[in-house]
Amino acid sequence: MRATHEVHIGSAEGTKGVAQQPIPSPVPTNGASPHQLQHSSHPGVQLHEHPTKAAAFVANDARLHWHDQAVWFLRGKRDRVSSAFPEWEQLRTLGSHIKAHTLSRLAEYLEQFERNALALGARVHWALNAEEHNRIVHSILADHGVTRVVKSKSMLTEECHLNPYLESQGIEVVDTDLGERIVQLRREPPSHIVMPAIHLKKEDIGELFHEKLGAPPGLSDPKALTELARQHLREKFLAAEAGITGVNFAIAETGGFVVCTNEGNADLSTALPPLHIACMGIEKVVPRAKDLGVFLRVLARSATGQPITSYTSHFHGPRPGGELHIVIVDNGRSRILQREEYRRSLHCIRCGACMNTCPVYRRSGGHSYGVTVPGPIGSVLAPHLDPAAHASLPFASTLCGSCSDVCPVKVDLHHQLLMWRGELGRERLVPIEKRLGSAIGGWILARTWAYRFFGKVMRWLLPRLPRALVYNRWNAWGRQRELPEAPAQSFREMYRRRRGN
Ligand code: SF4
Repeated sequence: MRATHEVHIGSAEGTKGVAQQPIPSPVPTNGASPHQLQHSSHPGVQLHEHPTKAAAFVANDARLHWHDQAVWFLRGKRDRVSSAFPEWEQLRTLGSHIKAHTLSRLAEYLEQFERNALALGARVHWALNAEEHNRIVHSILADHGVTRVVKSKSMLTEECHLNPYLESQGIEVVDTDLGERIVQLRREPPSHIVMPAIHLKKEDIGELFHEKLGAPPGLSDPKALTELARQHLREKFLAAEAGITGVNFAIAETGGFVVCTNEGNADLSTALPPLHIACMGIEKVVPRAKDLGVFLRVLARSATGQPITSYTSHFHGPRPGGELHIVIVDNGRSRILQREEYRRSLHCIRCGACMNTCPVYRRSGGHSYGVTVPGPIGSVLAPHLDPAAHASLPFASTLCGSCSDVCPVKVDLHHQLLMWRGELGRERLVPIEKRLGSAIGGWILARTWAYRFFGKVMRWLLPRLPRALVYNRWNAWGRQRELPEAPAQSFREMYRRRRGN
């Protein structure tokens, strides 16, 4: 790890349950690559995970089209508000520059944030990984004798699997974002980072509420369902002894942080119980309060096409008589930070726009990715944690580049997906038929004579081959598509003939 990007674990007084050593460099000293080390812990590699789960989703044609339309609707809203905003491209550039600058001095800004947060009366904890994060949160709750917790939406706590961990310790955790509560009641993960229950119809939710919350059978009116959820959650808010939130932006110069919601549930989760725990990834820090003017303007517009989220709550220290703990988590992020070609993925502000535009996400659903953050950004991030287990994800893309085009902080998503493909291929984590096909294709495309020769052969051969030789189980592409009719001449031949030479 390069010194300029080394993130040091805080050593400030007042921290509790804190790991007091620098994040160890993931670069191993025994000559093996970090990936090789991780492979050894995964003998049962699941290379076909995404295609298998996507096939199950695609099998329900009606659901596929409905999901596609629902997500595309959000992309349309995003387009309308961003195109009506003259400085949109400037904001994207500025946001990207601020993130790049912050990441180049991440340790400095995190330590500045910690100093200022401590000065405001918060307690700061540092967690190297998900297990440590969960242990820290649990120890804070246990110290206060807490058994009932309300939680507002936080992808980090999903990533760390905090809920099952706390439940295994006898603590009730209730997600208070409506979509999150719905998927929690169904005992399934969110399928989208902004709209966790986008894969469900109102009838599914009516059925769920009938079973879990005593709603009348057949109820599917969204207003009535929301009212029922509101009553159910109000009881949970009033009974909670602690509130957990995520962090959208942590401000180094003030030690404060911002949480964005559309339902006000983060505010209730922190205003009612006396104990507030805020969990943030190390990449959430921004240098100055005025940087929020850039990120808040692009976040909601990119996510749902709103000018701003309904509630943008600022926290500066604990509320009077209360206690505030901030848990800062690495969980593989410093490993991404040290890889320059992938570093830009840490710019991500989790708006979900790349999912809404991705033709593969829209048609395969979030659960087919098998990770907390699905879609293009999830397919870039997940292999860093475990390349063997998530080797299929960088291939869940058409590489059309639409994800990079809509990203409000200019993450070069399709380039990173392409880089992962090459890397996974070199690590032999890609199925043999795909590697063989790419190697043959690469060899032919690199030689003009071979390209012309095999083009001619295939134009003659294709119409004569028995169908079973072209469309078979090795040709995944051909399972749902037909090749166009082979032309009699190549483009080059046609061009020459028309030019008369
Ligand atoms: S990568 Fe960009 S578009 Fe995708 S969720 Fe992150 S910020 Fe949004």
